[in-house]
Amino acid sequence: MGIQFKTTAQMAIMARAGVVVEAALAAARTAAVVGATTADVDAAAAAVIAERGATSNFLGYHGFPATTCVSVNDEVVHGIPGNRVLEDGDVVSIDCGAIVEGWHGDSAITLVIGDTPDPDDVALSDATRTAMWAGIAALTTAKRLNEVGAAIEDVAIAARLHPMEGFVGHGIGTEMHQEPDVLNYRVRGRLPKVQPGMCLAIEPMFIRGTDQSLTLSDEWTVVSADGSRAAHWEHSVAVHEAGIWVLTASDGGAEGLAPFGVVPVPAW
Ligand code: MG
Ligand code: MG
Repeated sequence: MGIQFKTTAQMAIMARAGVVVEAALAAARTAAVVGATTADVDAAAAAVIAERGATSNFLGYHGFPATTCVSVNDEVVHGIPGNRVLEDGDVVSIDCGAIVEGWHGDSAITLVIGDTPDPDDVALSDATRTAMWAGIAALTTAKRLNEVGAAIEDVAIAARLHPMEGFVGHGIGTEMHQEPDVLNYRVRGRLPKVQPGMCLAIEPMFIRGTDQSLTLSDEWTVVSADGSRAAHWEHSVAVHEAGIWVLTASDGGAEGLAPFGVVPVPAW
């Protein structure tokens, strides 16, 4: 369908979906404690989405059976919540989305839980989150999406980590996944221009080992090929005439963007 350009009014609705996702992830974060199951984490997010009168865009997506993806340790993305019990030191990525009036939000966080986190896991999650903010900040100056991928990859290189090959961010709007792809690394070819009206999910996935992954026999769970741990952070962002606004953060991303000297402004 090509790139769907949004009006400021449509972006305002997407921001409503975004804050539902933010609240769902906050509940999921609280639920993700040692001894809880990944299904408990999912249920916490699902309750918030229902409470707010929104709908899950993950549930039933190509048959996906839950409201969130909960990916633990070597699982990078698309983990299916279930009876797995979270343990001290686990790296837990939670990806969640919601729909309000037909418009989608999509965001992900990573937690290192318990009392004895491996400092290298904390560094992994921190670098992935920093790379997400660097990629979002790059949208304010980038001519093309290549510069977003470069900003993300630079953070990975500095941290001696690897963006997972073959998994990318995306346009978002009346569907969760739209054109264009937003790569987390440099490519030779010219990617689309960054233009007002674009809404994009920026989502670096970093692995401590190599950049290669495998999909498990459940046909969903993506794990690092070498068994090393991975992190995933994501926000949905609106690009408009006056600047950018992070749709899945109620402050528009102000706190995360401050180190980059970027002040988000609402489109509406
Ligand atoms: Mg997501
Ligand atoms: Mg996404």
